[in-house]
Amino acid sequence: MCLSSAQHVIASTDSAKPAKYVFVFIGDGMGLPQVASAEIYSSALKSGKYPEAPRVLSFTKFPAQGLTTTHDASSFITDSASSGTAIATGNKTLNGVISMDVDKKNELKSVATMAKEKGMKVGIISSVSIDHATPAVFYANVPSRKMMYEIGLQLADSGFDFFAGGGVVDPDGKKSKMEKKPGNVIEYAKQKGYKIVDNKEAFSALKPDGSKVWAVTEMPADESAMLYEIDRPKDAVSLSDYTSKAIELLDNPNGFFVMVEGGKIDWACHANDAMSAIKDVFAFDDAVKKAVDFANAHPDETLIIVTGDHECGGMTLGFAGTKYDTFFQKLQHQKISYVKFDQKLGQFKSSNPNAQLKDVMPLITESFGLTNKGGKSEMDLTEYEISLLKDSFAETMKAEDARSSDDGAYIAYGGYEPLTVTITHILNRKAGIGWTSYSHTGVPVPTYAFGAGAKTFDGYYDNTEIFSKLVSLMKI
Ligand SMILES: [Zn+2]
Repeated sequence: MCLSSAQHVIASTDSAKPAKYVFVFIGDGMGLPQVASAEIYSSALKSGKYPEAPRVLSFTKFPAQGLTTTHDASSFITDSASSGTAIATGNKTLNGVISMDVDKKNELKSVATMAKEKGMKVGIISSVSIDHATPAVFYANVPSRKMMYEIGLQLADSGFDFFAGGGVVDPDGKKSKMEKKPGNVIEYAKQKGYKIVDNKEAFSALKPDGSKVWAVTEMPADESAMLYEIDRPKDAVSLSDYTSKAIELLDNPNGFFVMVEGGKIDWACHANDAMSAIKDVFAFDDAVKKAVDFANAHPDETLIIVTGDHECGGMTLGFAGTKYDTFFQKLQHQKISYVKFDQKLGQFKSSNPNAQLKDVMPLITESFGLTNKGGKSEMDLTEYEISLLKDSFAETMKAEDARSSDDGAYIAYGGYEPLTVTITHILNRKAGIGWTSYSHTGVPVPTYAFGAGAKTFDGYYDNTEIFSKLVSLMKI
């Protein structure tokens, strides 16, 4: 898209027509640092003498932009269940609660359900499992996000037209306390009329024939999520492919509501892995671009919102060791996600139980570009960094139940594989990125809007107002 087309859209939105085609993109864990670091990384790769902050992400060029507070009913730091509930239903609730009130008694109706009741088609897409908190708040009502079997059943009962992305975490209800289980969630969805598609050929062949579709990634990764973008083979189905397909299948005279979550931005930030987070921001933006193309073809009737549900990791641009400089180009040497490196490290560990740090250095160099050549390259480790690697390697080589579990170990490693998280900390700090947490933080997030009624999203407002603004613009 270009700015002029955005201006064209905003100039023509004074009509009182309802927003008929609505996209809500939620970058899970995507605060301003996650957005800015993706753009600064692009700039750094161009390696101009002076920094530019290019608007490489489609949504940072959107004509309407706001700041959104994310606190929930009990804390300034929300989780994805309570922030999702705020965005989807307009109500504050507690951490862990999926579209129910603070008493966990009353169900709250989501904007997606309201759209469905109005005759619009509805699509829900996520790069993590489809029963995870952010997608769940749009179609389920349960007192705890951990009730993933119940969430899966409610997905099948929702009657929504299109689900896509990761799989389900508890398909057979092994963790469920439900007394009479109606069986496997996928089989249950089939009984409810869903066409289940779990390979690329069948997915590509889907045509708008009115059937309800549930498309699951052919490569389920950690916790049934899609692969991290950095690990995704280029021909594997992407978040933007799912978004295109939603548009193709749901386009109809009554309009549609589509929610797309970039869920692994959050997971990468929990693990303090900046490169994986940045690549997932790009994958998320590729999905947004599909919606922008559609909006340009349907300018007066399409509304696109891009927001984050909260920041994650306390990511910031600037680190004590790099002072006023950043070196984001160093991140490009990272070739795989922390999860894929953990897998390789596990194999290394089982075949080399008495290994020393030097034995694993080739794997570290190949995966993250960090070298130990005595200061000859910008990717060389300092003595201080080598001492951090040695300590964390010693922890990694211990059996998990023999590792330290005190506050210091938590602050150093956050429950992640000690060597891996130390490597991403070192690489990120060399780039000039700092982290304060392995959890979410309470800073407000940016919200961007494009299309019919976008101007409503200028300003500083609470995440519950995203719901009220949407409902008002959609006239539902
Ligand atoms: Zn999170």
